[in-house]
Amino acid sequence: MDVLQYLSPLITNLVKYFIFAGVPFLIFYKLYPNTFSKGKIQSRWAKKKDFIREILHSIQMIFISTVLVVAILKSPLKDYTLFYNTKSDYSIWWVPISVLLALIVHDSYFYWMHRTIHHPRLYKKVHFLHHKSINPSPWASYSFHFIEAVFESMFIVILLFFIPMSKISLLLFGLCAFSINVYGHLGYEIAPKWFRNSFLFEFINSSVYHNMHHSKFIGNYGLYFRFWDRLMKTEHPDYIKEYDKIQKIRFHLKED
Ligand SMILES: [Zn+2]
Ligand SMILES: [Zn+2]
Repeated sequence: MDVLQYLSPLITNLVKYFIFAGVPFLIFYKLYPNTFSKGKIQSRWAKKKDFIREILHSIQMIFISTVLVVAILKSPLKDYTLFYNTKSDYSIWWVPISVLLALIVHDSYFYWMHRTIHHPRLYKKVHFLHHKSINPSPWASYSFHFIEAVFESMFIVILLFFIPMSKISLLLFGLCAFSINVYGHLGYEIAPKWFRNSFLFEFINSSVYHNMHHSKFIGNYGLYFRFWDRLMKTEHPDYIKEYDKIQKIRFHLKED
């Protein structure tokens, strides 16, 4: 095994994590917490030891997922994947379509995996670590127990073997997925005012949505969409109430 071929993607993914989670952390937690205070979802603040735990476990997750991708794409297994080079038979339009498809499939994978690890036995041994962040910060986005990190990374197998993706589609999917993940763990609601009354609100997740999963421990298992939670009746019954409470504070709306 050539260790060097793992080094460059590992460094790239670490840099991606520290930029995409670090910049929002710097803005919302260090530089301008007062500017965004109206959108703060929970009133208490997470502690420094929470940030350190979240960062260390996120580094572990990045290590596991990168090793898995490189092990597949740099081995003869690559021939069995649907991974394609940019100059290919696939139209340029397949790039955004495949990224959207990957997000939809990932949401379904995540929902069912997430519900599985909420089974009391797995929760105690595996998923409890992610839930140590009762008030999550952007650093918590990849903060998983080793076993959960393996489960989370296994989605890459589905992605490479079942959806034709190029290098650019993988990159775009990774950036979209991680940005939404950071938004879910931001600790602040930042969605624009119009979002609440648009059709998007009906099926897309918000920061309040995933934050409630961390503060209430049950309900709101979806990653990007509300689809599975609504279908399986696992959405937290107070979600709309909580969202509207913060919406009123953020935009100085009058009580009904
Ligand atoms: Zn959970
Ligand atoms: Zn979370």
